[in-house]
Amino acid sequence: MRLKKSLSIAALAFATAVALVGCADSDAPADEPIVEESPEFAEGSTMAKLAEAGTITIGTKFDQPLFGLAGPDGTPEGFDVEVGKLIAGKLGIAPEKITWTETVSKNREPFIQAGEVDIVIATYTINDARKEVVSFAGPYYVAGQDILVAAGNPEGITSVEDLAGKTVCSVSGSTSEKNLIEAGVNVLPAAGYSECLEPLRNGAVVAVSTDNVILAGLAAQNEGEFEVVGNPFTSEPYGIGLALEDDEFRNWINDVLEEA
Ligand code: GLU
Repeated sequence: MRLKKSLSIAALAFATAVALVGCADSDAPADEPIVEESPEFAEGSTMAKLAEAGTITIGTKFDQPLFGLAGPDGTPEGFDVEVGKLIAGKLGIAPEKITWTETVSKNREPFIQAGEVDIVIATYTINDARKEVVSFAGPYYVAGQDILVAAGNPEGITSVEDLAGKTVCSVSGSTSEKNLIEAGVNVLPAAGYSECLEPLRNGAVVAVSTDNVILAGLAAQNEGEFEVVGNPFTSEPYGIGLALEDDEFRNWINDVLEEA
């Protein structure tokens, strides 16, 4: 039941993204974003530069089913990817002109700061610490941290309190890792959430913990192996990361999200 609920939330989010990308123009195929023909932007703005270049580099996850998962040809698919296509389309950039760069949780700020990506759309929680070094548009979705356990929940874990003093896998540089440490949990750090599944399978950890929609995607990808506890204990507002103090670009992305 709980897993079904989490899954339906993510499925709804994904369906909404596809719908909002595809429905504004009745001539466009249902799953294709609208690509503006000759959008105009203030000279010198980031929007003008990207539109002129005809390409945008977007950082996203490559190992998170439902939000950002690399397909057979290496191109990622999912809700965050659809949001990226929506923004690119408003800049006049077609999906095939987007350069997708894999970002993991801990390199999102450094990649933005170094200009390796123009924006990051990667299940990226907006918070004050991150706002010291990058800016955020959004939020465009609000997730909550939850717990993934082996099917049948052999340890009987029902809340984060049950994890205190136990070893749980999460990802370096994520809010999930920080929240667990604050709750007295021993964290086995990984580079990406998909890397946490093997330690859960072989009993090195009792659980994996991060945002419910990420866990729902991993559970769905590995049917019958895992279940989501379904007791979220944080609020994770997802934002689009961009260079610090580029207020013009942030406000424009906010307008695009609002319009959608
Ligand atoms: N939303 C959380 C974060 O931004 C956890 C998910 C992730 O690591 O991407 O840290």
